[in-house]
Amino acid sequence: MRKPFVAGNWKMNTDSHISVNLAKSIISGSLEVAGHSVDVALCPPFVYLQAVAIALSTSSIALGAQDIYTESKGAFTGEISASMLKDVGCTYALCGHSERRHVIGETDELVNKKVTAAISGGILPILCVGELIEQRQASQTTEVVTRQINKGLAGLNDEKVSAVTLAYEPVWAIGTGLTATPQQAQEVHALIRELIGRIYDSALADEIRILYGGSAKPDNAADLMRQPDVDGLLVGGASLNADDFLAIIKAAV
Ligand code: PEP
Repeated sequence: MRKPFVAGNWKMNTDSHISVNLAKSIISGSLEVAGHSVDVALCPPFVYLQAVAIALSTSSIALGAQDIYTESKGAFTGEISASMLKDVGCTYALCGHSERRHVIGETDELVNKKVTAAISGGILPILCVGELIEQRQASQTTEVVTRQINKGLAGLNDEKVSAVTLAYEPVWAIGTGLTATPQQAQEVHALIRELIGRIYDSALADEIRILYGGSAKPDNAADLMRQPDVDGLLVGGASLNADDFLAIIKAAV
């Protein structure tokens, strides 16, 4: 069975002191479950990865980056490669988070290159997909998510795709306080799993973890996690508060 997975995306928040203290509070509050009955990852800003890595080094909580670049090294000012992320202790990297797609302008093609580069460099990608509110209102959710998955995973064989975690994050629910209902989340997660079964096979579809993200909070986490195809949560705002994030981790167990 798929082990639940809860990842915290700190976005462009915290500072060096807050990031280490937040990591330490999350470690001490989740000792009995993290890495055992639930996988947990923290994704701080790039500049605090190393400090958080040191804090996490004796824990079972994994480190993740919020982004990754497509190339392994060279003249790419400002970018960070998979080998650099590995060097500072990262296990995961978010790829195609909606803020990068819609604020920075990342395309499906670029996201696919990032997913591919992550896997080649030994980093496990968390591929984020999700529709805008206008697309949901125009009944385009299936079409948008199908395109993002097809293009995001293009060129990956079975072995490579088994390194991927998927995250369904409806853009209208991210940072807005509007959460998808458990039924809305389940509907899209089931569609994604079915799509993976069609592109690859049913064994892979059964194995791949699909996280939900979008205003996940302590009071809605358990209901979301109860859905059969929701395998965990990608948490933004609530991951910045240790008590809230710990309550979400516990709801996932
Ligand atoms: C996210 O950043 O991936 C996210 C889901 O944010 P929030 O929980 O704040 O909606």
